[in-house]
Amino acid sequence: MRRHPEFEPSCALKTGSCPRSLHLAFHFKGLPDLLMCPQLKQFNLNKLGDAGVFKCSGCPTLSKTDSSGYFGITKEKRAVVSDSDLVDIQSINPRIRVDIRYATANNFIGKPVYPCAKCYLRRKVAMKLDRIQQRLEKISLGLKIFDGYRPLSIQKVFWDYCPDPRFVVPPEKGSRQNRGAAVDLTLVDQEGDELKMPTAFDDFTDKAHRPYERLPKEVIHNRTLLESVMCEQGFIPLDSEWWHFDDAEGENYPIEDISLDQLA
Ligand SMILES: [Zn+2]
Repeated sequence: MRRHPEFEPSCALKTGSCPRSLHLAFHFKGLPDLLMCPQLKQFNLNKLGDAGVFKCSGCPTLSKTDSSGYFGITKEKRAVVSDSDLVDIQSINPRIRVDIRYATANNFIGKPVYPCAKCYLRRKVAMKLDRIQQRLEKISLGLKIFDGYRPLSIQKVFWDYCPDPRFVVPPEKGSRQNRGAAVDLTLVDQEGDELKMPTAFDDFTDKAHRPYERLPKEVIHNRTLLESVMCEQGFIPLDSEWWHFDDAEGENYPIEDISLDQLA
């Protein structure tokens, strides 16, 4: 690949597939790996605090690269891409599994409350999960997310259903989940099957509490493993829910009420 006037792609790493289209992965010298989805005609690129938004001018496959060798990417405009953007976790790492329970009836309310099954998080938070996923893959494991960013108006729906601060954060306070800086998740094996954990997601019994010890060794091991990989990247575990982790810098992000289908 020829040198780009501004960025120096050292190599094209791989191609892979995502549910929506072919992804092309590039490694830019000194930058984290980036995924470009040609169908979306756009990808974001962080460059040492500076950023550029590029438009793909077609060429959805490697075989159709144009003579410039840049896979048809032309610089379209400049825009600021920041750590606080709400991004779809699967656009950062499509191998992280998502099972957004609040988009299904399989949740404590018993009916879907999200319009779509997507997990959005602050870019910086999503990048941490990407690193955790890569680390877990070395031991043939991965992450599966139950919930990420939750718009404030949905927090109100939860509160109306269960107005008890032991289980639901009051909407006037707002939670880290409303800031896009908390995540509910578990560990899965290579087949995507969940590892045994103390309880199912959103179980409000004592068994879901982290200090709970009357569990098989394997379960304690799994809970501890999830906790340690998350803490290594600066997440803070919530005592009463084994699946919930707050980003340590969560308070830096504002509470949002952008609906999920608006972000999609
Ligand atoms: Zn949570």
